[in-house]
Amino acid sequence: MSDSAEGGPSGDGDGTRAVRAGLPEPVKNEPTLPGPVFAAHFHLPGEVGGPYTYGRDENPTWTLLERAIGELEAPGQADVETLVFASGMAAVSSVLFSQLRAGDAVVLPSDGYQALPLVRAQLEAYGIEVRTAPTGQDAQLDVLDGAGLLWLETPSNPGLDVCDVRRLAEAAHARGALVAVDNTLATPLGQRPLDLGADFAVASGTKQLTGHGDVLLGYVVGRDAEAMAAVRRWRKIVGAIPGPMEAWLAHRSIATLQLRVDRQCATALTLAEALRARPEVTGLRYPGLPDDPSHKIASQQMRRYGCVVSFTLPTRARAERFLDALRLVDDATSFGGVRSTAERRGRWGGDAVPEGFIRFSVGAEDSEDLVADVLRALEESAR
Ligand SMILES: *Cc1c(COP(=O)(O)O)cnc(C)c1O
Repeated sequence: MSDSAEGGPSGDGDGTRAVRAGLPEPVKNEPTLPGPVFAAHFHLPGEVGGPYTYGRDENPTWTLLERAIGELEAPGQADVETLVFASGMAAVSSVLFSQLRAGDAVVLPSDGYQALPLVRAQLEAYGIEVRTAPTGQDAQLDVLDGAGLLWLETPSNPGLDVCDVRRLAEAAHARGALVAVDNTLATPLGQRPLDLGADFAVASGTKQLTGHGDVLLGYVVGRDAEAMAAVRRWRKIVGAIPGPMEAWLAHRSIATLQLRVDRQCATALTLAEALRARPEVTGLRYPGLPDDPSHKIASQQMRRYGCVVSFTLPTRARAERFLDALRLVDDATSFGGVRSTAERRGRWGGDAVPEGFIRFSVGAEDSEDLVADVLRALEESAR
């Protein structure tokens, strides 16, 4: 990676790929991106045959979106299959529950997405052994022996630790385990897990992939046909499918992915640099900061560093006053949207974070305006 810290490598084809991703061949008098196909069933006389039979199994609007996501996660690799889901958790659960059975062991991150403990309880109820270790320092290596699946989340949410995907994937494959990477925070423009050796790239498209805070979506990308067939079967059994409108909105949003990601990443670095100079800010994390503990590995495997910055203010009350004082930043959960959001993560319980811990998602505002708003809110919250 060369100049990505300044907002993305230029000339890498990502912008071109994003605007054209998944588009069908042009057809005279037809739109560039065909509209959503609303169909519970399709005409099906005689013998049963694809591609479109019943709306829970396939839908042409999903097909185009799946093509688009596949082109971004694994450019030029025709052997990769993509499946879209109703939400990120639908995608996460589909991989875990389709690949594991009673008696298997799985390694999860101990510092990952806040719903993972709920998933853990369900896996254990089905007789699956769940082991956890932190993302930082590749600690999941130590509990790999005998596991059938290694689940990575890098950068981790909300702590922004990064693990070495190549190293962990090699170790897992040497033990016969499959590897999945939650690519939500990085987006396919920030990191390509399959190129780093993973078997599955899994993500919530609810966040920066779609980027407007108005769609829930998830996806799984994988190269192993048998493993993907099991994931597809799971989607059919559970019916965790996106509506055609959501799928179409997601595809439309992907056209601007590179513009949004580059802008948001550049501003995230500017904001992190501004926060570093503040005495009341501790525990500042942004993988794009050269002195961040994640930076070295991030710079080897990521192409962009994401739009989330995390840091800690001295007390819960100070953090609450800070959030109240922000004018350009909504106090809301989730991340990746064009409008900046921030929240005191400890209000949810579940994440092992200090009371004053803030997860800040940088939007597409002008960076001078955003940084000025944050610095003003920090001053006001001191009083
Ligand atoms: C949000 C999120 C999910 C879950 O996605 P939903 O679309 O909310 O179901 C999974 N993993 C990570 C890292 C997330 O941030």
